[in-house]
Amino acid sequence: MSDQENKNVNEVETVEKAEAVTVEPTDKKEDDEYEKVCFVCRRPESVAGKMVDLPNNISVCSDCMQKSFDAMNNSQLDLSQLMNMPGIQFMNLSDLEQSVPKKQKIKKKKEGEKKQPLVDIHKLPAPHKIKARLDEYVVGQEYAKKAMSVAVYNHYKRVAADTMDDIEIEKSNMLMIGPTGSGKTYLVKTLARLLDVPLAITDATSLTEAGYIGDDIESVVSKLLAAADNDVEKAEQGIIFIDEIDKIAKKKNTNQRDVSGESVQQGMLKLLEGSDVEVPVGANSKNAMVPLTTVNTKNILFICGGAFPNLEGIIKERLTKQASIGFGADLKDKYNKDKSILEKVQTEDLRSFGMIPEFLGRLPIVFTLKGLDEDMLVKILKEPRNAILKQYQKLLALDEVNLEFDEGALRAIAKKAMEKDTGARALRAIIEEFMLDIMYEIPKDDSIGHVVITKEYIERNGGPIITLRGQEVPKLQ
Ligand code: ADP
Repeated sequence: MSDQENKNVNEVETVEKAEAVTVEPTDKKEDDEYEKVCFVCRRPESVAGKMVDLPNNISVCSDCMQKSFDAMNNSQLDLSQLMNMPGIQFMNLSDLEQSVPKKQKIKKKKEGEKKQPLVDIHKLPAPHKIKARLDEYVVGQEYAKKAMSVAVYNHYKRVAADTMDDIEIEKSNMLMIGPTGSGKTYLVKTLARLLDVPLAITDATSLTEAGYIGDDIESVVSKLLAAADNDVEKAEQGIIFIDEIDKIAKKKNTNQRDVSGESVQQGMLKLLEGSDVEVPVGANSKNAMVPLTTVNTKNILFICGGAFPNLEGIIKERLTKQASIGFGADLKDKYNKDKSILEKVQTEDLRSFGMIPEFLGRLPIVFTLKGLDEDMLVKILKEPRNAILKQYQKLLALDEVNLEFDEGALRAIAKKAMEKDTGARALRAIIEEFMLDIMYEIPKDDSIGHVVITKEYIERNGGPIITLRGQEVPKLQ
């Protein structure tokens, strides 16, 4: 080989090496951000030292590995006989696959690095801007949107100002009261998305006091950790929404231990206030299979929501009692027709409902959402940024078909939804039922250019108005 050729070969080699080097760091970088956790003693790699990798994403630290070898060697048992004993099987690691979550690594905390607030105080939108963003998605519920915007704004200011001085700003955990389908979950989801913070949604009905059947209270934090990609720092600044909080009201007249009511409220106190909790990584219950990590809930914003049935009755009773004393005695049925009675809610009403005072004390921001009326439902159908109608219009636009709903059809859909009494949640189911035929039939015929869904079609005594391409589209009244 001539010198020249030799040089060329060397050059190729160096280029290949260079390529290899450029690929490596990205892999390494991902690895660098997360660390393994020992499957047995649950210590992370930074504490326990190098891990031995076993199949199914399981890692064991060398100490535990050694201990298990020692145990085997020192044992008096004749291990070869073990398999012949009834009821004894060797553990097959592949059986563990279902019980071991894939993601058991937690994000490393870099040493000496200062905690960065997730939401930058200088970029944090002012309350009116947060509300304007919510307005794009959520119809009505003006008071709720306003209260939420201010509370969230203050909360993230508090998080950012955490280390500035020793005047502690109180946490702005919230309690939302409103009938089902009035947009409680939707508001929280929208909020978390526009602030770009992790969000976990749980149902209070599934929670029980630790040790009983059901999820431990800490599982809510574990869900948030999963939503934050196992990044503890990110999770510590997220939002937890606990729905159906009214279902953990104190049970009346019971001699049994109230493991899913009052005890859950008690158990949640320290979470709401802020404390270090040990949570399982990648699962929602603690057991031998999952590693644990510590999450501080001090900067987690808790939002609780519930329908609180019969709360109106409790408020009415209180108001009537107050009003019937002294000179200003009012008519007894004055409040019976009052539609905004829920807005008059006070802590004592919630206490009568069965929420314990310590729990209520940790949810300082209380506001109500209105039940949706027909007009609001019509608006929900067409106005929000991702309104259901817009979604269908977009779907059909891909087939180059224009879709329209006449006003009567929207009213008829809203009326049907009102009958179901599940708020806006019924809308999608109703529309889907009517759109099924349309979505099935229209793509069959290429010549169709325009479809109008009419009131008659929704009321099942007529059909949609279909116009072929090139024909004149009838005007909607
Ligand atoms: P809940 O109050 O029971 O938590 P949700 O927030 O889950 O009700 O509402 C169900 C669905 O209804 C949401 O996904 C959303 O699409 C729609 N919705 C409810 N209320 C509103 C509203 N005020 N504005 C826009 N959409 C709404």
